[in-house]
Amino acid sequence: MTTDKTTMKFEAEANQLLNLMIHSLYSSKEIFLRELISNASDALDKLHFESLTNTALIEEGGELAIRIDTDKEARTLTISDNGIGMSREELIANIGTIAKSGTKELLLRLREAKAESIPSDLIGEFGVGFYSCFMVADQVTLVTRRAGEEAATRWVSKGDGTYEISSDTRSERGTSITLSLKKVDDEDGIEDFTEPFVIRRIVKQYSDFVRYPIKLGVEREKEIDGEKQKVFEDETLNSMKAIWLRPESEVTDEEYNEFYKHVSHDWTDPYARLSMKAEGRFEYQALLFLPSHAPVDLYFKEYKRGLELYVKNVKIMDACENLLPEYLRFVKGVVDASDLPLNVSREMLQNSRQIAQIRRALTKKVLDTLEKKKSDEKEKYEAFFGTLGPVLKEGVGSDFENKDKIVDLLLFSSSNDKEAVTTLSEYVSRMKDDQEEIYYLSGESRQAIEASPHLESFENKGYEVLFFTDPVDEFVIPSLTEYQGKKLKSLGKGTVEVGSEDEKKKIKQDLEDKTKAYDPFLKALQKELDEYVSEVRLSNRLTTSPVCLVGGEHDMSPHIERLLKRNKMDVPKHKRIMELNPDHDVVQKLKARFDVRPQDLALADHAALLFGQALLAEGSPLPDSATFAKLVADLMNRGLS
Ligand code: ADP
Ligand code: MG
Repeated sequence: MTTDKTTMKFEAEANQLLNLMIHSLYSSKEIFLRELISNASDALDKLHFESLTNTALIEEGGELAIRIDTDKEARTLTISDNGIGMSREELIANIGTIAKSGTKELLLRLREAKAESIPSDLIGEFGVGFYSCFMVADQVTLVTRRAGEEAATRWVSKGDGTYEISSDTRSERGTSITLSLKKVDDEDGIEDFTEPFVIRRIVKQYSDFVRYPIKLGVEREKEIDGEKQKVFEDETLNSMKAIWLRPESEVTDEEYNEFYKHVSHDWTDPYARLSMKAEGRFEYQALLFLPSHAPVDLYFKEYKRGLELYVKNVKIMDACENLLPEYLRFVKGVVDASDLPLNVSREMLQNSRQIAQIRRALTKKVLDTLEKKKSDEKEKYEAFFGTLGPVLKEGVGSDFENKDKIVDLLLFSSSNDKEAVTTLSEYVSRMKDDQEEIYYLSGESRQAIEASPHLESFENKGYEVLFFTDPVDEFVIPSLTEYQGKKLKSLGKGTVEVGSEDEKKKIKQDLEDKTKAYDPFLKALQKELDEYVSEVRLSNRLTTSPVCLVGGEHDMSPHIERLLKRNKMDVPKHKRIMELNPDHDVVQKLKARFDVRPQDLALADHAALLFGQALLAEGSPLPDSATFAKLVADLMNRGLS
């Protein structure tokens, strides 16, 4: 009964994702069923939650369940649920557009790379649920009715860029999705999804733990009154057993992984799993997972963090945030506690003493697990840290109680090795006898830091320098300040002294003597560059470069400044210090010339050239690149004539 059919276009990004999905070479296409069941289960959960405050919702309709019906002749498969359903607007928003900014960004990158299908290692990052049914269906028809509403909506699409939407009727709330299946093609991973044994196997494999019954309508022959007759019966395919309540020895890794995929909406296996059981006065169980890659929306505001919270196997919260600190927001899983007070608001529950107690224990357990992973399987840990380390690092500044543990989990690249990363404790074990501080330098990339003039004298003396290339490092360092009693010292800020006490004294004296001789010259340069630098001074940190820029002890690093600017954030204007290498030919010649002709007009040009060089060396943009280019051209011209 359709009267008001409208054809609508998928949003550009949604269409792109749909196309990538259809053309993807994903080998296990059967997972479309897992995704549709997972959505149905979510819809039932949502109904359950809404009905807590609106009991009228649940009164209509029978047992909460998921149904699968097949039609061999018509080659269709229908999955239905009596969950929350969708209004027309919700349907357009949920299925026709992509809400997650993270997914959008990933799609943009794929478009830039002109990808025509989703590489199978990337597919997991999307967590594309609903669209996966187009891997096995030529056409998809969805009829849905929002709980509490009378009208239903029909949605039909061939996955070709458009969908049709119209009014419809549905006898009860919920959603039915009918797939017109593609031809069976074993090579392409398309089995006969109308066969009960195929469906049984897939449900058992991926969705056994789903808490609602998944019923398959089957046709059986029965003898009734001495006659063989065809009857239709429902068969429940899943055990519905809460996986965290089953003994670990009885659950396979695959089952745990599928459960992880359900709670996380991720398509890739987790990096680690941990389970916990607390007995005694306050009992609870937890089953947690650490993902193997950062969820696409992890850095976006909409990212939903938190663990599922159950009380005696009844889900009472979908995402309880207080069960873990924010820097562990990538952890997924469930907590089942038997003695939580249920007669309080969720707000009060979240802030209860019990939740705080569980949080402490879970945090410790996650950090201990990571420590063990780090020692047992360094390589895998490095991969994990590569994608989720930046989030973990936030904990250094926010979790005072566990700071030492977190710090020991951090990995950095350093001048010690071209590729291998190092922990702080490994760094300390390599420190030279006369070395008192842990040196680091921050920058955009390893390459940029290696080319930085600040590194020169340290490399020459053989001191190891940590490379801080992650933007979040800048925020971590202020709370790190020292490790095993050794202070962390930036080579790009303040003054640096290396070597033994005697050596340091000598260097200092030497620098003071030279500075006296250079003073008028330095002041003159400073005057020329007053707009950009607060001071021009001599340096002991350079060996081959003539010049570099350094920050005051507490200044923002140029790296973080660039980052803020790129994100169009306000950068407090501050001037840095320009340091000259008194042993460098250019500096010596310039000074000699200044001594003879202090009023030389060319001084301004040379000052600008030095400043420009210092900026280029650290990878910062020039304030006026056209003028700089002209100065260089003039210089070449003079050199050549
Ligand atoms: P995800 O499950 O990760 O949100 P999907 O692509 O699987 O992404 O689903 C997109 C959205 O469509 C869901 O978030 C939900 O709002 C809606 N949806 C899908 N299936 C159903 C269903 N059976 N009942 C109600 N809403 C659904
Ligand atoms: Mg889904």
